[in-house]
Amino acid sequence: MNIPENDLSDMRRKMVIDQLSGRDIKDSKVLDVFEKVPRHRFIDKKFRKDAYADYPLPIDNGQTISQPYMVALMVQLLDIKNTDRVLEIGTGSGYETAILAELAKEVFSVERFKNLTENAGSVLKEIGYGNIRLKTGDGTIGWGEFAPFDKIVVTAAGETVPELLMEQLNSPGKLVMPVGSKFNQRLLLLEKTAKGDVVEKNICSCTFVPLIGRYGWEAGGAGKDI
Ligand code: SAM
Repeated sequence: MNIPENDLSDMRRKMVIDQLSGRDIKDSKVLDVFEKVPRHRFIDKKFRKDAYADYPLPIDNGQTISQPYMVALMVQLLDIKNTDRVLEIGTGSGYETAILAELAKEVFSVERFKNLTENAGSVLKEIGYGNIRLKTGDGTIGWGEFAPFDKIVVTAAGETVPELLMEQLNSPGKLVMPVGSKFNQRLLLLEKTAKGDVVEKNICSCTFVPLIGRYGWEAGGAGKDI
């Protein structure tokens, strides 16, 4: 389905007003980047008419591109500065990676499915981002080579926060992750102080696809493996 660019911009503006600023997304930098990033480019053509709708959409490998509001909430909680180096676990479509790249100095993103990394990489390159590094691998072990990170966002749900991610988080630093069962979780914000203490805040209930890996859930039943 071919939707004219002007209509897509109008849909995007309406998404920001109705779903984000109409709720509790008040950070103007966050609202501006959601108005800028072309979410439809990260979505299969057959779902494009729903690209700015208030729900998650399917991507390949049984995974999802998260609901716009949930992405905005995670990004707002991280309070990203233009000097920050950010680690994202779960690249998925690459949409959230683009949002992060608009706000941060550098973004490092890990995805367990090779084809998703490749698809996200080509869309991000086409749009022209130059401050993103992607890799295929198990994000539950983080990306030690580039640690520490000022901010970490995990876009899939685990039973606990992997210890290696907490180790790779800077002091001070912030990490956002859905934690709970495979089917229902709480979105947690973990703030590491300059002294290295960790303060945990329970933000809201949520439902994400499972984090599969050495320090996550075992593979099987939750999307196809590589
Ligand atoms: N933020 C993404 C977007 O904008 O499209 C949505 C990501 S989707 C909800 C979660 C992603 O985490 C999936 O693509 C899934 O394959 C990935 N994932 C699950 N376990 C992982 C792991 N151990 N390492 C890296 N990625 C993982």
